[in-house]
Amino acid sequence: MIRPMETAERTPTGRNETASVLGAGASGLMASLDLVRRGYRVTAYDHRPEPALKFRLAGSSGLNLTNAADPERFASRYGSASSRLSPLLAAAGARELTAWAESLGVGCRTGSGGKVFTSDGDGSRLIEALLAELRASGRWEFNSLWEFSGFSAEGKVTVRGPRGQSRVLPPPVLLALGGASWPATGSDGAWTEAFRREGIGIAGLESANCGLDLYPPPEAGVRTFVKNVAVGYEGRFVRGDVMLTPTGIEGSPVYVHSSRIARTLRDLGGSASPDALPVLEADLFPDLSSDRILQRMKRDRGKASASTFLKKALGFDSARLALARCGLGREAAALILADPGLAKAIPLRCLAPRPIEEAISSSGGVLFEELDESLMLKRMPGVFCCGEMIDWDAPTGGFLLTGCFATACRAARGMEEWG
Ligand SMILES: Cc1cc2nc3c(=O)[nH]c(=O)nc-3n(C[C@H](O)[C@H](O)[C@H](O)COP(=O)(O)OP(=O)(O)OC[C@H]3O[C@@H](n4cnc5c(N)ncnc54)[C@H](O)[C@@H]3O)c2cc1C
Repeated sequence: MIRPMETAERTPTGRNETASVLGAGASGLMASLDLVRRGYRVTAYDHRPEPALKFRLAGSSGLNLTNAADPERFASRYGSASSRLSPLLAAAGARELTAWAESLGVGCRTGSGGKVFTSDGDGSRLIEALLAELRASGRWEFNSLWEFSGFSAEGKVTVRGPRGQSRVLPPPVLLALGGASWPATGSDGAWTEAFRREGIGIAGLESANCGLDLYPPPEAGVRTFVKNVAVGYEGRFVRGDVMLTPTGIEGSPVYVHSSRIARTLRDLGGSASPDALPVLEADLFPDLSSDRILQRMKRDRGKASASTFLKKALGFDSARLALARCGLGREAAALILADPGLAKAIPLRCLAPRPIEEAISSSGGVLFEELDESLMLKRMPGVFCCGEMIDWDAPTGGFLLTGCFATACRAARGMEEWG
């Protein structure tokens, strides 16, 4: 049975004092803290037993909270969503997120490529401090195992509890339901159904920041780390470490290109011939110019095999050789010997993105045209959205959590402005 809508409490000035937040992931918790600090009483709901499951997972290999790139470059990392996100990032971007972490007692340090990490390593102290402040406020009530069940006939958000009970939530309500990667953390994208039923425009949730299966797959059949290479697509090369897997390739220099490659593969429609597949290029020696490589290979080869010679001349280790073989086959060493320029452009044919269950993030979500400036759904007055459930996408490097923070802060402010 659906319980009648509770009425929102109002201050003497007429401002709502209560708010509901659905989804207790990174963006829902960031928005909840903002609302609590603004004096709101927040009722939070999540269908998982605990909050912050993906936020914790994100920290498992070092929490890359944000990035030190200058504001213009920073905003450009959100691609087609950058014009909508720019003003949000200007108000609550990298600087504000770092200050926010500091307000919770956790400092930050800048690492390679401008990546900004929390000083607690895995982000656990940051998450604990965030939850501790929410609980200590006495104004945050967390309801686990409650799920978003859609919209009432009047356009109000409804939730369903663990015993099948239902509630209609008074506005303002914030939806922070995430994307669809790592569904075990709760982000299963099931909310899209209710949005579609209401005719709210959604871009399909797809793998982003994910590994890519290669054609043919790596020979080794085991995981091989290849350090300090550059991976390019359509002329843009990004440096870093990659990992060869039994089916393909992973790592941040690959993730940068994965959304565009996934889109190209979708457009090709699954039956493309190997020659039509999108091709990544791997530069095995980003620190050496082509001239320098040529110079180093001028030495006498003697009786050394091609791979031994390359090892001596260029420091061509077995991991690099495995990567070269992905693109050039078993004769890779001989081919590079004959044409040293190949070492800077190993062609890697991409067959498919890894499944969304394994992706760092998903692209797609609520279309920006469905949201007003304050991230309120135009068709559902008083219902706001934030975080990865909105149709923006960004590479790894701290841009994802910063996008969550920027949208969470804007939506929280929007809820206050709304009344
Ligand atoms: C392995 C990994 C590493 C990462 N590392 C980084 C990193 O270092 N830096 C970075 O910037 N980003 C990183 N990310 C990405 C980052 O974690 C996400 O972008 C971010 O957590 C998204 O936050 P969100 O609140 O929008 O969604 P989520 O964190 O997915 O939260 C959504 C919440 O909504 C709940 N929910 C969903 N559907 C319903 C429903 N129907 N009813 C009720 N509740 C529901 C879920 O249970 C969940 O708690 C990483 C991600 C992964 C998977």
